[in-house]
Amino acid sequence: MKTAIVTGAARGIGLATTKQFLAKGWRVVMVDWDADELGIASKDLSDVLALPYDISQPDQVEKTIAETLAAFGQIDALVNNAGIADFGPIAETDFARWRAVMAINLDGTFLMSQAATDALKASKGAIVNIASISGLRASTLRVAYGTSKAAVIHLTKQQAAELGEYGIRANCVCPGPVRTKLAMAVHTQEIIDAYHDAIPLNRYGSEDEIASVITFLCSDEASYVTGQVIASDGGFESTGVGLPALRG
Ligand code: NAD
Repeated sequence: MKTAIVTGAARGIGLATTKQFLAKGWRVVMVDWDADELGIASKDLSDVLALPYDISQPDQVEKTIAETLAAFGQIDALVNNAGIADFGPIAETDFARWRAVMAINLDGTFLMSQAATDALKASKGAIVNIASISGLRASTLRVAYGTSKAAVIHLTKQQAAELGEYGIRANCVCPGPVRTKLAMAVHTQEIIDAYHDAIPLNRYGSEDEIASVITFLCSDEASYVTGQVIASDGGFESTGVGLPALRG
């Protein structure tokens, strides 16, 4: 049975991804530092191992990989989905706020991938990193978040370049806006309206619309796809000015 590790699996995009893997017959290691929410999310699921760890802490990352291998013996896919959003102007982004975002979104993705590499070599497995449209295009308030996600996009390409010879594929998914707890904490009504205006499909995405791209990239159907950055964003990245006027 194939095994995926999904970080940030207690809710949102990570939980939707977990359920899609289970529906495809995979086992899933659900990693999330919110132990209470993880317990609720994993309670009625079978073929899962729930680990309440922080992916920005090297010792907890090591424990995640060791406990995964002890329980399931292999890792076929690693989905680096755990992340935090903190929107603010440059002047108000003090070093602690900056570091908190980098520590999870970037350092955590690096650490988890590095720790899983030997197991992924053995399985010729896949890494999928979750960045954001905020890593593809700059906007106000996203100096830390957007920069961390742009770094995740490049980290993915570094991983694809170096790990390809071992049969490991590394790809990146850039979600557009999805109504999760993370997004709703930072999306004001003005931001919501601006996204609707700027997105050709004229709506937010769903957790499942992101998860299906993630699970595809982990599957054998994507066996010759590596080093790619795929936006699941309703067309946001492709467009410039003019949509609201056209809709008029
Ligand atoms: P969410 O807040 O609903 O879920 C994120 C999960 O990650 C939470 O359960 C949280 O507890 C967990 N987490 C955070 N830091 C962690 C850590 N250090 N260790 C372990 N677990 C940790 O958010 P979501 O919207 O589902 O976001 C998932 C990913 O998608 C994030 O990387 C986010 O940046 C990205 N993303 C989301 C949107 C959106 O609009 N929702 C858009 C673009 C990108």
